[in-house]
Amino acid sequence: MPVVNAVTGPLDTGELGFTLMHEHVLVKSPGVVENFPSVWDHDAEMDRAAAKLRDVAARGVKTIVDCTTADLGRDIQFVAEVARRSGIQIIACTGMYIDVPRYFYGRSVDAMAELFVGEIRDGIAGSDIKAGIIKCATDAEGMTVQVEKVVRACARAHRITGVPITTHTFAAGEMGTRQQDILAEEGVDLSRVIIGHSGDSKDTEYLLRLLAQGSYIGMDRFGVVMFLPTAERVATVARLCRMGHADRMILSHDANSYIDWHERWMIEQIAPDWHYNFIPDTVIPALREAGVTDEQIRQMTIDNPRRIFEQCEPY
Ligand SMILES: [Zn+2]
Repeated sequence: MPVVNAVTGPLDTGELGFTLMHEHVLVKSPGVVENFPSVWDHDAEMDRAAAKLRDVAARGVKTIVDCTTADLGRDIQFVAEVARRSGIQIIACTGMYIDVPRYFYGRSVDAMAELFVGEIRDGIAGSDIKAGIIKCATDAEGMTVQVEKVVRACARAHRITGVPITTHTFAAGEMGTRQQDILAEEGVDLSRVIIGHSGDSKDTEYLLRLLAQGSYIGMDRFGVVMFLPTAERVATVARLCRMGHADRMILSHDANSYIDWHERWMIEQIAPDWHYNFIPDTVIPALREAGVTDEQIRQMTIDNPRRIFEQCEPY
């Protein structure tokens, strides 16, 4: 049985079950809590995160993939503890988001890749907690020099370790295509890549082009209504299911228990549906209503995540 590294230790892929493939536990601006500790209440946030994860576990979700990299303030001990407390399985990531630390500006792609490989083989931040997925990100600024370096480093770490790649994109700028081009240049088998935040787009042409290259597409921002309302996200998934692509989509929210980018009340006001329970409570019933079959829902929530983690040979 193939094995994937979760934060609480190795897991048979058969145990993954219903998996939300792109979420976060904490998103913290690096350096802020360390220097302004009054803005952070560890115990309260631990209770809150554990309660939220217990809640989603009670709805049948067994695993979440935490796509929080170092530059998003990854706190691996917090994540491991909340996994133990809530009973949910959490897979951590290595790689980098768009806020590439200055440290890397004057260093090579291979130096970066080596650090990512270390997080997969040895552990994260001096612990023995291993990353189970590799993340890169390309946003509205496009494929900047540093961001391209991250994409290439992720590609190399992926080929060395066999661990899958998941991405963040600015779908409106068709950044998924740019990522596929660079990953292909690095010799990556694009069927082992999830082009994330593709669900922010309702442009079927663009989505079909991503799928034609063999990648999975992340319909993974349910509740982020600022980029696309829920009804349009549901309609897009249903349309692609009708076209026969349920075997290449994954569903998630890109939600979190804590993010320090805005005041909490503001986020709750602007995006009240942006939370871990939205897919089980609301999106799945809406997909059924739109004609998506139980078999297709099973593919997107259980079978595809499992298949992604089972393709784990280095090459
Ligand atoms: Zn994310």
